[in-house]
Amino acid sequence: MAACAAGLRPDSAVVVVGSCMTDLVSLTSRLPKTGETIHGHKFFIGFGGKGANQCVQAARLGAKTSIVCKVGKDSFGSDYIENLKQNDISTEFMYQTKDASTGAASIIVNSEGQNIIVIVAGANLLLNSDDLRKAADIISRAKVIICQLEISPATSLEALTMARKSGVKTLFNPAPATADLDAQFYTVSDIFCCNESEAENLTGLTINSPAAAGKAGSVLIERGCKVVIITLGAEGCVFVSAEEPGPKLIPTQKVTKPVDTTGAGDSFVGALAFYLAYYPNLPMEEMIKRANLVASVSVQSSGTQTSFPYKKDLPLNLF
Ligand code: ATP
Repeated sequence: MAACAAGLRPDSAVVVVGSCMTDLVSLTSRLPKTGETIHGHKFFIGFGGKGANQCVQAARLGAKTSIVCKVGKDSFGSDYIENLKQNDISTEFMYQTKDASTGAASIIVNSEGQNIIVIVAGANLLLNSDDLRKAADIISRAKVIICQLEISPATSLEALTMARKSGVKTLFNPAPATADLDAQFYTVSDIFCCNESEAENLTGLTINSPAAAGKAGSVLIERGCKVVIITLGAEGCVFVSAEEPGPKLIPTQKVTKPVDTTGAGDSFVGALAFYLAYYPNLPMEEMIKRANLVASVSVQSSGTQTSFPYKKDLPLNLF
């Protein structure tokens, strides 16, 4: 805070206003039935939440990043702060509250990879206007802001609106999927980036091909965003711009036997934010190609943040 008071705080190029979740993962041979207790063979704790994941990926590529988020005043919250610090992310606007626990996802995965998951968003839902106001300075001086829907939608919308007013590029990832998104999210998003199921929920269209994704993208563009990107897993992405005619498929180097695709979407969004902030003159297609390649590396190892590559692990021509 001293640096802040003296006006010395360095700007963060990428600011994320979003979620942190602690993943509590138990591996079992099968899923338990109602009322049953079974033994699992492995347990681990992972750092997740779309906001933090995207921020970590941007930071690992070399972006100067800050996160605006809320965790509980509990051991998970304190561990999460430490995790983000270790990823070189500014946690000055990471708040801890006594009024709710750190967001948590209790996950049980059986030997066939099937899972049951309970998410308790907890402190994430308490991030509010007052918290944004305290972080107004870093938001208004960022190059790019990223928001998702794992915190209160009203807070996400307010953060995007604040950023837009200051000329900060707005990257919105409407995840997890929702059918009833406030229409203002479209007009306040410079880049609206979602996956197939989110695009299906938002448009009511079935997406079973890149062409169908292109149609959904065009529907979303009509609602007011400047650029829509729909990620298509191993197929890459479809990109639609309000300024250019027709959707474009941006294919990627397909990984035919991915180890774990969890978090691939977050790796893509975090990487895209990095390119928007640090290579603003690249054509959008080239930024998407590079973000595709970063995300394709993330599917080749297990876990979420643990699978996100660092700049040093990537080909030099991505920088
Ligand atoms: P998740 O929910 O698992 O985080 P998602 O459904 O949000 O993922 P996807 O569309 O599956 O996101 O993937 C995001 C990006 O990751 C893709 O656009 C692509 O760049 C990359 N990707 C995913 N799977 C593969 C793959 N098998 N091979 C290469 N790249 C992949």
